[in-house]
Amino acid sequence: MAFSKNVQSYDYGSGSLEKLTERVNQRRGRGGARAAYFIDDFFSTSGLLDKIAIDPLDAIKFVSTVKEPTTWYVDQLTDEVRRNFGELPCCVVGIGGGSVIDISKAVSNLLNNGGRAENYQGWDLVQKPGIYKIAVPTLSGTGAETSRTCVMTNEEKNIKLGMNSQFSVVDHLILDPELSITVPRNQFFYTGMDTYIHCVESLEGQYRHVFADAFSEEALELCRRIFLDDDMQADKNRERMMVASYLGGAAIANTFVGLVHPLSAGLSSVLGFHHGISNCLIMQTMEDFYPMAQKEFQSFLKKQDIELPKNICRDLPEEKFREMYLATIVHEKPLINALGKDYKKILSYENFREMLASV
Ligand code: NAD
Ligand code: ZN
Repeated sequence: MAFSKNVQSYDYGSGSLEKLTERVNQRRGRGGARAAYFIDDFFSTSGLLDKIAIDPLDAIKFVSTVKEPTTWYVDQLTDEVRRNFGELPCCVVGIGGGSVIDISKAVSNLLNNGGRAENYQGWDLVQKPGIYKIAVPTLSGTGAETSRTCVMTNEEKNIKLGMNSQFSVVDHLILDPELSITVPRNQFFYTGMDTYIHCVESLEGQYRHVFADAFSEEALELCRRIFLDDDMQADKNRERMMVASYLGGAAIANTFVGLVHPLSAGLSSVLGFHHGISNCLIMQTMEDFYPMAQKEFQSFLKKQDIELPKNICRDLPEEKFREMYLATIVHEKPLINALGKDYKKILSYENFREMLASV
């Protein structure tokens, strides 16, 4: 048996950003009068704000994505909203890629549940719904717009783990493919591959089921059309990527990721690589675990002429491998999904080290 929750509603299509003001206005007076916007720093100078009629009383916070979200940053942003608003906001709006969407989901949950972000890293720890969440993806692939998690790095504990909860699902989505027109080529590839990898891991996992498979299979087909095309960022392909990301997020909301994500999280927490590129680096080592997908992934790299960094772990001191191993092995559920209950026997430190040394 499975329980899942989907996004309640969405506006979809080129130009649908213009619906945002109306959606925010519909929330005013429910809990509060003002809205809190979190917007990727990139858009502070891009002219995007000219397209949205933001009420002068609403609060806009431009969010830095130099680093991916940390528990510390989420706490700081939550405190800022509490300080600036006499009451709770009527809704929280996240405009950006996975980082900004996750931050806005986490702040929304914290505003209504209290406490610190790290208290909720894990499964089903959030007790009640957060503030109404609206997400506007500007970069597609993470599936944060449909998933039931918001991922944060806890730098003190050296772990990257989400608030996995039905209350982390977004309430309303605006899916406007025009917003991803400015995404740099490599970033489009790395984040797009996140969808591909989510779906491979879901389909290869022991918790797979027909419902999740249906989302994954369609998203994989869309990925093949995009990443084997001459122009992966053509209008039609950016629209496909937006839909594939949505479906991939729904797939993992129904199941779990697999082996790539825990390894990628280890690499990110210790060496600071961002999620998309980190997944790609790990995917190269998956010939024994996901052989068909690893091959197909290589064909996407080749077709799109993307060069990944090389030899990043070759000269790492032993203690860094140990730290990475600990930051990987903590992801019990995806590892059981991929390798079964005895996952530590397959992913022993020696095997892990050998795999990572080739990255
Ligand atoms: P990101 O949000 O970190 O953004 C990457 C870069 O792209 C940033 O520099 C940003 O400014 C830029 N960018 C975004 N939109 C742009 C646009 N339209 N034009 C130009 N530049 C743009 O990247 P991401 O890969 O979308 O998100 C990664 C985060 O998502 C990680 O923290 C990861 O852990 C998380 N994640 C969450 C889930 C989930 O289910 N919640 C799933 C997978 C990954
Ligand atoms: Zn991912």
